[in-house]
Amino acid sequence: MKKKILSVLLSATVAATLLAGCGSSASAPAEAPAAEAPAAEEAAPAAEEEAAPAEEATEEAAAPAAAAGSKVGVSMPTKDLQRWNQDGANMQSELEAAGYEVDLQYASNDVQTQLSQVENMISSGCNVLVIAAIEGSSLGEALDMAKDAGIPVVAYDRLLMDSDAVSYYATFDNYMVGTVQGTYVKDQLDLDNADGPFNLEITAGDPGDNNAGYFYQGALDVLQPYIDEGKLVVKSGQVKFDEVATPTWATETAQSRAENILSSFYADGTDVDVWLCSNDSTALGVENALAANYNGKYPIITGQDCDIENTKNMIAGKQSMSVFKDTRTLASQVVKMVGQILSGQTVDVNDTETYNNNVITVPSYLCEPVFADVNNYKELLIDSGYYTEDQLK
Ligand code: BGC
Repeated sequence: MKKKILSVLLSATVAATLLAGCGSSASAPAEAPAAEAPAAEEAAPAAEEEAAPAEEATEEAAAPAAAAGSKVGVSMPTKDLQRWNQDGANMQSELEAAGYEVDLQYASNDVQTQLSQVENMISSGCNVLVIAAIEGSSLGEALDMAKDAGIPVVAYDRLLMDSDAVSYYATFDNYMVGTVQGTYVKDQLDLDNADGPFNLEITAGDPGDNNAGYFYQGALDVLQPYIDEGKLVVKSGQVKFDEVATPTWATETAQSRAENILSSFYADGTDVDVWLCSNDSTALGVENALAANYNGKYPIITGQDCDIENTKNMIAGKQSMSVFKDTRTLASQVVKMVGQILSGQTVDVNDTETYNNNVITVPSYLCEPVFADVNNYKELLIDSGYYTEDQLK
């Protein structure tokens, strides 16, 4: 009965939100690649010790009192990458501080594990699910179960695809992450004025992660004109998303592909001027490959997340920039949404146009990603309490 009321309230809320059409909308990628299944990889050693701070809970986390006591299932993809440890820890501490019971699970980047973890959350009585999918289109069965049980689902950071059972989506503006990276490359090389040509290589993300296409397309929309005019030259010839993608965002996969490219196209002393990497785990692979296999001029390298290893590399001059996505901001936003959902309030969204999951357009809240480099990392990461100075030594 309670669940029924909840689902009626929810549909009313969604409808109200859609009608209100609130907020600005971000640009969609011109052609985000279709999601396809990446090979599930065995979990690598956890990055837990390095994982960071959940201590900075934010002001706005408090949920409406009526909702306290409810149980929230939080499904995270993997502990292998630093950010998901932070996301999970932040979500847990903020939800608990707001009075919820929390069932937090990590799925070791294994789709079947995530599927059964989410199914267990449903059968154990969770009232809301928050899911960061390993592979956006693989949780259909569990999402159907949630829908039948009247349990609202919030897609966390990564959109859940091919399902009408997704109530809301909270993420960072993924297309903007790509344009920040592309614009950085354009500005650093002064592409409008310099003669070039400059050699560029590209390493993108996981084809099973809907975000990866947005990052790639955002950057390519800035850089493609210079590739077309020959000012940027991709010596490997690998430009299309499918050619540059990195299943499960694995550092090792990015590294071995970069090693192949370096030995095939740059072993004769040719410089690679830029390596566009969609995120920090893939940038780390490229940085490892350069350290092992390359003696030329060190390239501009982009990244995303401000992971600890990558921030250290920025300080050491081995990575040029990253895009900071404060996981505390996203967690707070989602905790707020959970509270609004459970108490039947209007749920805050600021984009009702961009994120279509092939079945519905999911009302979304997009947080803003921030450019980071060696000049502003202290302010962004240390002064804000995200990392301690010691963590970056
Ligand atoms: C996230 C990125 C992250 C990547 C790998 C993406 O879905 O948006 O922040 O670097 O997954 O974990």
